[in-house]
Amino acid sequence: MIKHHPSDETLFRYANGSLEPGPRIIVAVHAGGCATCASRISEFEAVGGSLMHDIEPDDMEPSALDHVMAKIEIDEAARDRLAVRPRLPRADVGIRLPQVLDDCGIGPWRWIGPGVRWSRVTLPGDDNANVMLLKVTAGRKLPEHTHTGYEYTHVLKGSFSDARGRYGPGDLDEADDDVQHQPIVDKDGECICIAALEGQMKLRGFFGRLIQPLIG
Ligand SMILES: [Zn+2]
Repeated sequence: MIKHHPSDETLFRYANGSLEPGPRIIVAVHAGGCATCASRISEFEAVGGSLMHDIEPDDMEPSALDHVMAKIEIDEAARDRLAVRPRLPRADVGIRLPQVLDDCGIGPWRWIGPGVRWSRVTLPGDDNANVMLLKVTAGRKLPEHTHTGYEYTHVLKGSFSDARGRYGPGDLDEADDDVQHQPIVDKDGECICIAALEGQMKLRGFFGRLIQPLIG
């Protein structure tokens, strides 16, 4: 039972392509298992499509059309490059990962602190996206903290709780810098999440804080 979803703003940015690659893959993982968000994204895409449709060809500068056509050619070229790209290395992280991650590289689990391991997720089109898997032992309490930017965390296995509620499999926690919380992984088992950070901000969030020593 999914209780926590991305905001409409995030789903809209997903639909119009303006969400950064890291958060984008987290939303794709969520929407792959959430019919509510998948249909919301379709609605937003339909709105975007009809807005495009409302632009009469006469209103468009010839150069604008050239621009659009050039962009389509570039997109196709990028897709062709992706098609021949060798498969990224994938470590076995002990759980079945969502299908949308099939083309992503998955690093081995690395120790990051007592009871916490992480694995880097590499996106086929963006080597610099801050995406990671995190595995936290049952019952572990994380330091109280605030965020300096958006952090997207999708629960794959297990659960954690904080003052805002409980986050279980399929839930997406979208935390901004207004959020101050002290998450605790529930006692009944380890928690595995996939998380992404937006932008190159200083990392102080739930998971960002843990990986900060690793990425400087
Ligand atoms: Zn959802």
